[in-house]
Amino acid sequence: MMELKFELTKNPKRIPTSEELTRTHFGTLFTDHMLIIDYEKSKGWHDARVVPYGPLAFEPASCCFHYGQLIFEGLKAYKTKDGCAVIFRPEQNMIRMNESCERMCIAKIDEREFLEAIAALVKTDSAWIPTGLGTSLYVRPFIVANEAFLGVHPSNSFIFMTILSPVGPYFTSGLSPVRIYVEDKYVRAVRGGTGFVKCAGNYAASLKSQEEADAAGYSQVLWLDGVERKYIEEVGGMNIAFVIDGELVTPELNGSILPGVTRKSVIELVKSWGKPMIERKISIQELAGLHKAGRVSEAMAIGTAAVICPVGELKWGGDVMIFNNGKIGPVAQRLYDEITAIQTCDAPDKFGWVYEVK
Ligand SMILES: *Cc1c(COP(=O)(O)O)cnc(C)c1O
Repeated sequence: MMELKFELTKNPKRIPTSEELTRTHFGTLFTDHMLIIDYEKSKGWHDARVVPYGPLAFEPASCCFHYGQLIFEGLKAYKTKDGCAVIFRPEQNMIRMNESCERMCIAKIDEREFLEAIAALVKTDSAWIPTGLGTSLYVRPFIVANEAFLGVHPSNSFIFMTILSPVGPYFTSGLSPVRIYVEDKYVRAVRGGTGFVKCAGNYAASLKSQEEADAAGYSQVLWLDGVERKYIEEVGGMNIAFVIDGELVTPELNGSILPGVTRKSVIELVKSWGKPMIERKISIQELAGLHKAGRVSEAMAIGTAAVICPVGELKWGGDVMIFNNGKIGPVAQRLYDEITAIQTCDAPDKFGWVYEVK
């Protein structure tokens, strides 16, 4: 077990109320502490510490600033009715973080030890976990390459950090459906690239598209595959699913789609309902045809930040597809209700998804 040192703040901040969080932009407030673990090739991961949240010093030559060797994760902690702090499926995020490390030439982490360190941070700031409807404590682990050199090669030193942000609903509209458009100019990822891992560069590359979507009055874009620009992949930071002829359908993982923990949870949950979620290739042309024939009753985006976000409108060139009259549909509502009930321990944890912070 890794030794963890604590240096607690002498100036604790005022903790926002749940009501304040619902009026605050997602991820703009941070708790009193952060977790830091250093890596050097000769020493491995070492010097794990919980310290006051605050700025860091980096050499300007740190390679992360130049070549973007940066990965992150995103997960959520909740407080149960009996006041316990719990985290939703953090083991999955640790596995995925190591997959990101592998792809980005970053030193691997010990999944169990790092999770215990993250849990210790959450425990330190557990008073910050909000309890209002739709609120949670967003947990953001990340790793940056900080060796100082100019020249393209993998870093020999890294910093692992975790920061915590109390959040309300991801979209200010709450559970009401969003409008998205199909991106046909830019691409997010290609097979053989980095689309299947959470590396910072993927998001930098998507900002231009997001900016154009915002300007056109849409909250997100739907990405198509980068080669044929035909098959549906996912939304900005969320996976996507449709209800077609009463069955949930989601694009199959193909090396350029990010394998979401929420997507995986939806697959497992739907299986327990007795009707599997179908993972397959689905082209935008096929979707538009099915929609025209009245066979697509719902569309929804799926990810940690929003959990389930109904899609009310999907614009593809001149085609506008409206789902369920622009209102949240029964499948999205049921998924949202059942997953959030498990997350907050209001429903039994029959899948073993909840990690208790002790
Ligand atoms: C994080 C992310 C998702 C959703 O993953 P979750 O583990 O469910 O939060 C989907 N797509 C992209 C591009 C992402 O970055």
